[in-house]
Amino acid sequence: MTAQPGPAESDDQPTEPLRRDDAEIGVIGGSGFYSFLTDAHRVAVMTPFGPPSDDVVLGDLHGRRVAFLARHGHDHRFPPHQVNYRANLWALRSLGVRQVLSPCAVGSLRPELGPGTVVVPDQVIDRTWGRAHTVYDEVGAVVHVSFADPYCARGRAAVAQALADSDLPYAVGGALVVINGPRFSTRAESQWHQAAGGTLVGMTAMPEAAIARELAMCFTTVALVTDLDAGVEHGDGVTHDQVVATFASAMPPFKALIGAAIQGLPAAESDSAAECACRRAVDGLTLPFALP
Ligand SMILES: [Zn+2]
Repeated sequence: MTAQPGPAESDDQPTEPLRRDDAEIGVIGGSGFYSFLTDAHRVAVMTPFGPPSDDVVLGDLHGRRVAFLARHGHDHRFPPHQVNYRANLWALRSLGVRQVLSPCAVGSLRPELGPGTVVVPDQVIDRTWGRAHTVYDEVGAVVHVSFADPYCARGRAAVAQALADSDLPYAVGGALVVINGPRFSTRAESQWHQAAGGTLVGMTAMPEAAIARELAMCFTTVALVTDLDAGVEHGDGVTHDQVVATFASAMPPFKALIGAAIQGLPAAESDSAAECACRRAVDGLTLPFALP
């Protein structure tokens, strides 16, 4: 596949013509988040990497222009290993988004971080395979971005402050182990991830975070614990029903938290004026195409 500079027109007729700089903040999460927005409208976006998981829903929240994208599609069509992470991030960037909050459901590798706890990880251990891991996958210009600190310090601070102001149980820091799925871990794998220093285990945080960095976007994962992982719990192991039930009951306060975190994110900055290290990730590098 050859990546062409800039987003192409979709074959589907968007409900409104696309305008650049339509949003400053992106949220990649479930469709449940749309209910926040005032003046919400959907836009279909096409990218050099194909269509994103769904139309992007644009709207206002507390005076900020926000773009929501359902990671798995509004009908939850795409399992974690089939999500088009490259298209999702490219689509958001092409709409003007430079800061992304990425809520996701995770298992806990620490018994003290039980279901309902919200964690803002500061590290990631990538155990995924066979996904499209980079936007720079063609022979030619070689692009290595720094990923020592995978998440945005300013985004993490905004979420941490929103958590401190909330009644939610939470933890700031920790390593998120990302497994390929869609199956859950064996007990031995889970204990291995724990011994390796993992705090949480999920299936979607990579390559999402790495692609955001490749596109010079600020990116912050906000993880909601839905279960204790197989190596930590002493029952019959994690089930899908358990995860879904916990997620449903935790959603209202979790949504409120994301809304509060959006309010606390730094003001929008132009690409030339941005000081955050995330936004400078490709400075001085020769890119094979212009970023949207
Ligand atoms: Zn940043």
